[in-house]
Formats: sequence, structure tokens, C-alpha cells
Amino acid sequence: MDLKQYITIVEDWPKPGIKFKDITTLMDNGEAYKYATDQIVEYALEKKIDLVVGPEARGFIIGCPVAYSLGVGFAPVRKEGKLPRETVKVNYGLEYGKDVLTIHKDAIKPGQRVLITDDLLATGGTIDATIQLVEELGGVVAGIAFLIELTYLDGRKKIDNYDILTLMQY
Ligand code: 5GP
Repeated sequence: MDLKQYITIVEDWPKPGIKFKDITTLMDNGEAYKYATDQIVEYALEKKIDLVVGPEARGFIIGCPVAYSLGVGFAPVRKEGKLPRETVKVNYGLEYGKDVLTIHKDAIKPGQRVLITDDLLATGGTIDATIQLVEELGGVVAGIAFLIELTYLDGRKKIDNYDILTLMQY
């Protein structure tokens, strides 16, 4: 299936010059959403995954159906102040300034094999921060899966020690 036909490119959003890749039109289509999820599940099965981890909010949209299908858990990575119990946190540089990501301290057991998911790899900052959280808790990053990779931003360079799956490239 050609998944790109389900992505809507929104010009000049959220600011002039950006061509935003809107994945909601893929999620809207049951067949396309299932096909994309199944591709990631197939990849994850080879990696013997114990747990899926994804950053809010679109990392949940990709990761939760994969976790459900694998029969493993999902641990959310969230912005600071959103998780109710003890967390570990990491600072990371966003395009528009600094931000903080957090995960519950007991979300991962040391040695667990983790699949990280997000919708899109741009500069790699978000996923690099997520990797740091997983590793700080003793998790093993066994694979990282995205729907979309913006190859011209070279985000892959930041995470080139890891096994990466991307379903679409722009
Ligand atoms: P990075 O940290 O790799 O620079 O940016 C990736 C993060 O920004 C992802 O969590 C992703 O959800 C969001 N993002 C950046 N650009 C786009 C885009 O064009 N479309 C979508 N759907 N998400 C984007």
C-alpha cells in the first residue's frame, strides 16, 4: 500500500515555510492505519519487544495499537508536570526553545527490550530525549519506528547507533 497518499501536506503551518505532514488523514482511514500498524508490528516481532514507549501525543497514536497487537505494555513519555508519580526527566532542544520530557521512574524494568515509536523523525531531538529516558531506567532500545522521516533534516545522524524503521520518507 502506498501510505503517502493518506498524508496531507499543509503548507505554511504552524509557521510560514513549514510543510507540515498531517497524519490524521491516515489515521482516519481504517485500512491505512491498520496497514501502517501491521508494518511496525512485523518489525517489532523480530526485535522481541517487551514494552513500547512513545512521546506525547502522536507517539501514542502509533505506539498503542502496536503494543496492543504485540500483547505488551505501553509507557507514555510526557511533558513536565503531566505524569502523577515520581519521574525522571530530560531537557531537550526544540526548534522553538527548550523543553522537558518525563517518564515514570518505575515504567521500565532494567533489561526490558523497548520499541520507541513516534509519528515523524525531523531533527531527532524528541527521539534522542526519549532514548535517554529509556536508557536511564535501564531499558534496552531494541528498535525505533516512525511513520515518516524527513531525510533532509538528517535526524537519523543523531540516532545512528540504533535500529530504525521509517515507513515513508520525504
Ligand atoms: P524532531 O524532534 O525530530 O525535530 O521533531 C519530531 C517531533 O515533532 C515529533 O514528535 C513530531 O510529532 C513533531 N513534528 C515535527 N514536524 C512534524 C510534521 O511535519 N508533521 C507531524 N505530524 N509532526 C511533526
